[in-house]
Amino acid sequence: MAKPCRCVVFDCDGVLVDSVSSWKTLHDGFGTDNSQNLSQFIAGKITDVEFMRSDIAMWKAIREPIHKDELFRMYSGISLMEGARETVKELQDEGVYVAIVSAGVDLFVSSIAAMLKVDDWIANGFEFDENGFLTDDGVCRLHASGKGDVITRLMEIHGFSPEEIVSVGDSEMDLSMMVEGSKFIGFNPSRDSSIKAFTDANVPIVMEKDLSKILDFIKLPSSEGN
Ligand SMILES: [Mg+2]
Repeated sequence: MAKPCRCVVFDCDGVLVDSVSSWKTLHDGFGTDNSQNLSQFIAGKITDVEFMRSDIAMWKAIREPIHKDELFRMYSGISLMEGARETVKELQDEGVYVAIVSAGVDLFVSSIAAMLKVDDWIANGFEFDENGFLTDDGVCRLHASGKGDVITRLMEIHGFSPEEIVSVGDSEMDLSMMVEGSKFIGFNPSRDSSIKAFTDANVPIVMEKDLSKILDFIKLPSSEGN
């Protein structure tokens, strides 16, 4: 019989929050468009570090300096995904460890992590000077296409086996969370290419924008012996 789940790892943008990208939210705020860089990044032609640096340069061309508070305010209109709060709570009530692994913006992801009271989180983001103004380089703590490294670290720290881990993501890059032997659920696929990648990977896909639907695909500890 399959082992019950002990750890669920969520992507943030498009999964825990109803917004495709915490980077795009900032572009919308500044009126800039990074779609060209995004395509280049997805195609592997520029690195995460180059991508972040070019984003920051675009914003600074509009306004310089940029204060942390100003960036934070741009997220005020973003809401949690339907079902996010209940789902995280139900998992934690079952003793399941809940983490966020996001290549999104740390400033934003940390506030979501606090709101949902998750057990751990990691994200990319920014560096600010001593007065709270944005510096030129981003901080790359994980690679969007290499999220498996973080999952492996979680397994080492907490002693989870791969079969006890479920990852949830909305993009093809999130499939990198599916370390061998673990499970993955595609949720609210962000692009046609994401649906295709999830289908090719033969993982369950939840199309409905209600995070609680993922629970249908997770074997909770309390269901043991039923
Ligand atoms: Mg996402």
